[in-house]
Amino acid sequence: MPAVRSNIVPLRHAKPGVVAYVKSPAEWFVANSGWIQGSDGVVLIDTCGTEQATLELVRDVRKYAGDRELTVVITHAHGEHHNGLGVALRDGGTALAAPAALDVVKAGPQTYGNVFTYTRWGVLEPPEPDAVHPVIGWRRLDLGDAAADVVAVPGVAHTAGDLVVHEPRSGTLFTGDLVVIGDTPVAVHGSIPGWLDALDWLQDTFRPRTLVPGHGPVANPGHTAFHAMRVYLEWLLEVTERQTDFTKLARQASLRWPSWRNPERHIGNLMRAYADQHGRKLDVDLAIDAILAAAGGRIDLDYLLDGEPVRQIS
Ligand SMILES: [Zn+2]
Repeated sequence: MPAVRSNIVPLRHAKPGVVAYVKSPAEWFVANSGWIQGSDGVVLIDTCGTEQATLELVRDVRKYAGDRELTVVITHAHGEHHNGLGVALRDGGTALAAPAALDVVKAGPQTYGNVFTYTRWGVLEPPEPDAVHPVIGWRRLDLGDAAADVVAVPGVAHTAGDLVVHEPRSGTLFTGDLVVIGDTPVAVHGSIPGWLDALDWLQDTFRPRTLVPGHGPVANPGHTAFHAMRVYLEWLLEVTERQTDFTKLARQASLRWPSWRNPERHIGNLMRAYADQHGRKLDVDLAIDAILAAAGGRIDLDYLLDGEPVRQIS
């Protein structure tokens, strides 16, 4: 596996600065960030999974945005998006998260020792609790000559606490993991019907032109990213209406979406879809065990940037 690359993609049609910070390859624990800057402030959307990757991200933000006041929006409480929040706020600033994500984000990093063998997370302190605030509904952040709309996704979609960020002048939507491109989505903590509703809601509400997905490359105007997500999520519901041989169905999914990375996630998503439409509670640990069995055991993240062994400061 090649080392993870961070690509700074200024969205040139968006003035003033809207930047996608795209990481590749879109692997486990490798997620995108981005920022919107105006004359009076900068909004960073998501941090990274490790201290070192977050320090490099913040250095790049500062290169563009100077010492403008920082607001960090955490799109949802998955570790590769929020682990670096304490690191990003070391020199001040505030953060926003959905109400349902707030406790986990405030508690600090999640390194999922049952899922990953990785240990070199660096120093990932939790954020100061009073620096993190909830967003209920819709909040416009005035950045001087630019604005960022931070909006809570209604209901349960990718998780129970998802936020998206919209830059209205350019029609750029930072989707968090509601949209991923070229990578198999992870649905075990969400709801497949809720996710489908959320995709409709996103399209109707924002009619976005450019998408910065949670994982994978930027989707430019004319993209089919929403359609691709919808086809997959609808397929999950359709095939689990009557069938429960999730291993066989996961093989079918790998054949239908052969270019998507991390196909071991299909089995967990199928279990989620089955539970959702039969009124059952998904045992998330069992779904993760099934994903790990499909992956051949715990997942090695050695392709992440090297750091020191994790030391959490509380
Ligand atoms: Zn996620």
